[in-house]
Order: sequence, then C-alpha cells, then structure tokens
Amino acid sequence: MRLKDALGYIQNCLAIANINEAALEAELLLRHALGYSTLELFLNHGLEISDKEYRSLQALLERRLSGEPLAYITGQREFYKLDFIVNSNVLIPRPESEHLVDKALELAHSVPTPIIADIGTGSGAIAIALAVNLSNSKIYAVDISPEALGVARANAARHAVASRINFIHGNLLDSVPEAVDILVANLPYVKSDDCINSPEPHMALDGGDEGLDVIERLCTALPNKLHPEGSVLLEIGSGQAVNVVRMLQSSLSAAHIETIKDLAGIERVVWGQL
Ligand code: GLN
Repeated sequence: MRLKDALGYIQNCLAIANINEAALEAELLLRHALGYSTLELFLNHGLEISDKEYRSLQALLERRLSGEPLAYITGQREFYKLDFIVNSNVLIPRPESEHLVDKALELAHSVPTPIIADIGTGSGAIAIALAVNLSNSKIYAVDISPEALGVARANAARHAVASRINFIHGNLLDSVPEAVDILVANLPYVKSDDCINSPEPHMALDGGDEGLDVIERLCTALPNKLHPEGSVLLEIGSGQAVNVVRMLQSSLSAAHIETIKDLAGIERVVWGQL
C-alpha cells in the first residue's frame, strides 16, 4: 500500500467511527507510526509502506478506534506552541486552558519578579508555558498525583525550565510555602456523572456532584495566600461562572472579579484580583 493510500484508509476508518478531525488525526497517527515529520510525509506520499509498518499502523489505529485518545497513543500534545509529553496519568492539555496562560502572562508583566503557583499542574503545561515566557519568575507547580509530577518534571526538563519550577507533591495550597502574586489552577470541574467513561484520570476531572467541590476547597484556602494586588485565575466549565464568582467573593471579599470567555464564547476563566 502506498503511503497516501494508507493515509486515506486511516482517515476513512476514523471518519466512520465519528472521530472529529479525522484528516488531522490520520496524519498524526501515520507520522507517529513511521516516525516522519509533516514534510517527510508529504515528500514520501508515493512510497510503498512495508508490511511491518502497515501492521504497526493498524495496531495504533485499533487503539484509537477503541477510544484511546490520540495524545496518549502518540505520547505528545501541543500546548501554547510547545510540545508536551502526556500519558494516561495526566489530563491532556486543552486549547481553552491557553486563556489562563495568556491572562497570567499579562498580569505577570506588571510584577518585577512574579511568584506564581500552578495548582493541579498535571502534565505541567501551564507552569511550563509560563516559565518559558517569563524568565524572571519563580514558579511553584503542585499536584496530588506523584505520577503526574513525574510527567511534569520530564516536561520541564524538556523545555529547560526545571531549575525555575519548584514541583510540590501536595493537596491544593497546603504545601505552598509562601504567598504568591498569581495563582493559576485548572482543577477538576467535571460533574462525577459526566466523567465515568473518560479515559483521562478521574482525579484530574471529577469535581463531585456539581463539579465544584475542589474549586470550592481551593477558594476557601485562598485568604493569606495572595500578595497585595495578587490574582487568582481559575479555569471553569460551562455554566459554572456564577457559582465560582460567588465562592471567590465570599473568600476574598475585597477582590475585583471578572470572567474571561473562551473562543467558543463560554465563560472559561474566573479572575479575582485583590
Ligand atoms: N476541559 C476538560 C473537559 O471538559 C475538563 C478539565 C478539568 O476538569 N479541569 O473534559
């Protein structure tokens, strides 16, 4: 089979299985199976693939068709224009979380040496995107999962920022040793009933009956953890803004609070500033 026919075949199988972006996923699967860049794939699209290559491709395709996310199969996901290692111990970084990074960078630029905490860092994507873009920052990255911290450390080493991030194994703010200028958190906020069949770690998704248990615990712990004029940025799910704004108001009564919409127009980040 020629490479371009293999590409068409995979795309077709993915489309029949109702997988969105079948063309993109087909290309990524094929590139992963053959170890090709986009350019190599393009230049070699008339070549025959070997039986061995075909078998490895078929095995990857079957994993994808059985519901395993593409990012876990390839072991990679791009976030904030950086490549991150991912596996089933971590949530796959989502484009909507880039809004947290954008806002945190904007806020950090008005502080000479910002101290930042990323609570529930998972793969480390948010903390590392911040460290890469803020050479003068001090960053704490906290997670309750030792396995997730292992992935985050590997990602920090890959992006040469390991020396500027303090990784902490701990629960929310319990082990953060000082008050910070900016606290960012993409905590679990999915309703328990909605994450039952998810292939991603439930620890990273499950926010209890209404999805807000963990965010509420964080809000309660916020007093004294932010510097004067410090900010907290919380990623939230659709329809949760009113409740999370209320939680922040009751914990940081003097804070100015706003919400930030994602590209789909959903209120995705709640920002509170002292
Ligand atoms: N955005 C993720 C989803 O909808 C949830 C991430 C989270 O709970 N923090 O699947």
